[in-house]
Amino acid sequence: MNYIDPHIHMVSRITDDYERLARSGCEAISEPAFWAGFDRGSAEAFRDYFKQLTEFERNRAAQFGIQHFCWLCINAKEAENVSLSREVIALIPEFLDTPGVLGIGEIGLNKNTPNEATIFTEQVDFAASHEELILIHTPHLEDKYMGTRMILDVLASDSRVTPGRVLIDHVEEHTVKLALDGGYWCGMTLYPLTKCTPARAVDIIERVGVERIMVNSAGDWGVSDPTAVPKFVVEMRSRGHAESTIRKIVYDNPLSFFSQSKRFDFTPRD
Ligand SMILES: [Zn+2]
Repeated sequence: MNYIDPHIHMVSRITDDYERLARSGCEAISEPAFWAGFDRGSAEAFRDYFKQLTEFERNRAAQFGIQHFCWLCINAKEAENVSLSREVIALIPEFLDTPGVLGIGEIGLNKNTPNEATIFTEQVDFAASHEELILIHTPHLEDKYMGTRMILDVLASDSRVTPGRVLIDHVEEHTVKLALDGGYWCGMTLYPLTKCTPARAVDIIERVGVERIMVNSAGDWGVSDPTAVPKFVVEMRSRGHAESTIRKIVYDNPLSFFSQSKRFDFTPRD
């Protein structure tokens, strides 16, 4: 089954992974801006990173017939540095006419600190004032529930934010309903061992349904599996779910959400 991975960090991946994605039916990917494995020392480093996302990775993906899209922002981890964050936000407009840039993300919280919350609020304001889609990182483990509540409060307090134009990522059993009930889109991040496995994701789908929900592989610096989405497809099939139901989660839903961006220049394969 052809699919779209809506959240994968290919800058942390080798070219062979693109080949694996292509062989497993990946038609398009979206790559949020995130941590580079180290804290960057200047806004210039982010400008270079945004060029890497919008030029190099897009071309590297195209060599394997995969369409590459991306999101720009300062991530929650580096948002602890407020002055650097503001410099980075100020250079984002340079890239807002670039094909394939879907919006602002992944913004959010990491350790739920006051500095992170300040920059998250400012990036929501930036996205709202530029009418951009938003992709949100929710914290991991013990910080997730509280962080998700804080994020939803910030979003709800800005009347310009339309929930249907926001994707809240890394949802799990205890946060998925909070996001869905607010009218937001949700992403479940599949990891081989920790966090949400494909089997747990299917359990969640069976409880909350298939509206406004998608799955992704993260494909980041940690132990992660860039082909986790096809494994989710196999798990869904093994439990007897219809092909149309599976396709909605791994293809139709990301397509519907991304299509709200005027720079989503996607061409379906068939
Ligand atoms: Zn991420």
